[in-house]
Amino acid sequence: MITALPQTTPRDAIQAAFDAQRKHAPQMALTTAEQRIERIKRIQSWITTHETDIQRVMYDDFRKPSAEVMLGELMAVHAEIKHIIKNLRQWMLPQRLPTPLSLVGTKSHIRHEPKGNVLIIAPWNYPFSLMIKPLVSAIAAGNVVILKPSEMTPHTANLVREMIAELFPANEVTVFEGDAAVSTALLELPFNHIFFTGSPAVGRIVMAAAAKHLTSVTLELGGKSPAIVDETANIKETAGRLAWGKCINNGQTCIAPDYLLVHRSVKEPLIQAMRETLTAMYSPDGKPIEQSDSYARIVNSKHFERVKGLLDDAVQQGATVAFGGNTNEADNFMEPTLLENVTDEMRVMQEEIFGPVLPVLTYENLDDALRTVNSREKPLALYIHSRSRQNTQYILDRTSAGDTVINDTLLQFGNVELPFGGVNNSGLGKSNGFFSFQEFSNQRGVMQREFGTMKFIYPPYTDKVKKL
Ligand code: NAD
Repeated sequence: MITALPQTTPRDAIQAAFDAQRKHAPQMALTTAEQRIERIKRIQSWITTHETDIQRVMYDDFRKPSAEVMLGELMAVHAEIKHIIKNLRQWMLPQRLPTPLSLVGTKSHIRHEPKGNVLIIAPWNYPFSLMIKPLVSAIAAGNVVILKPSEMTPHTANLVREMIAELFPANEVTVFEGDAAVSTALLELPFNHIFFTGSPAVGRIVMAAAAKHLTSVTLELGGKSPAIVDETANIKETAGRLAWGKCINNGQTCIAPDYLLVHRSVKEPLIQAMRETLTAMYSPDGKPIEQSDSYARIVNSKHFERVKGLLDDAVQQGATVAFGGNTNEADNFMEPTLLENVTDEMRVMQEEIFGPVLPVLTYENLDDALRTVNSREKPLALYIHSRSRQNTQYILDRTSAGDTVINDTLLQFGNVELPFGGVNNSGLGKSNGFFSFQEFSNQRGVMQREFGTMKFIYPPYTDKVKKL
């Protein structure tokens, strides 16, 4: 339910900030690559000097291990910043295009111009990188920006607000903290672009609001990302890659493998290898996983109840726990949990899990596995674990997904050269590197006549023109 707007962010304050930014947008549009890079470098050096603060707030929000802050948050932001600094001058140059013979005497190019006023709405699961990565791209493209962090990670949201207030005048970049009520108020305004990261359900709300102003949107959404493990996969390596991809950030990663489709002949060895690898990761000294300092928590009690509900319902309907299963409600703690004997009808196979529970389904024939994948919405990620080129190609040719990694998980987010994002229910538009720069830019086509005039096409039309 949408609550009332908090006193601290009345609608007037939002409108005033928007108006001030709209007024300033034309000046931002005139900034050079050097001026934009200077702004981005402010963010870069702030992050470097505040690394421990960033780690602390995310620990306070959901006990995110400091190593995971470095791996999942700061490495991604630093990589994006370095890539922009290296390439922005080039991206801002007019992109020359070929001219067809029929248009001889003209020349054409694409000019990337800023969209103008942009709104970035972020989720809680990677509360720093999913706010700051799009921000640096929006600045690179020459926009003014309003940021709306998630209310579920208030410590991080607060730190981001302090950082932005320190680094930018409010008419360039500003932050509005708050919940859906604040988002709703922001979404009423005629932004030139909205970059939203979150659930497909809220993505629909954002797109409907954007439609009122014909505002363009980038929607980075989620869903159920499958991982297929065929009979040729290297089981030991696959177990490690899946365990890490599933359990980093406690399974609260948009591209985490949501469920496994494993060839029947390798199911038992895979489950055994995953038991061993999970134990080695989170209980190397035999202590309970709950005591591991490498394991985050579910973000809050509401989400804990939701994930536990998925697990309990599945078990009640006949699923069996092959590893883990222990929980501690007081601490929003849930062990990494492998589930067997799962059926399509169970809620755990109908909703995005977004927690440390991994259903293991089996298949006999690859076409059956593909039917399971294709009977659902197109996923944000599809993982293939196989040493067979033929099987890999067969799967790629017969499925669709935002991104695919073959023989690993999550790494697609780390390569700034790869377009990152979903397709249909898992998202619209792509981010990372140049793809983000493009999302925040209008690709304006510019044609210039240099000589000649096409008088022969003017009326009265001759037979020659009529036969063109
Ligand atoms: P969410 O959709 O609940 O919230 C995202 C943002 O939208 C928050 O800032 C929230 O305050 C705001 N919001 C919530 N309700 C709203 C409403 N009715 N109107 C307007 N704004 C509203 O998502 P979440 O729980 O923060 O994040 C989890 C989801 O995000 C998962 O589905 C996950 O897969 C997805 N996700 C996707 C990516 C990606 O890059 N594709 C990355 C991270 C998370």
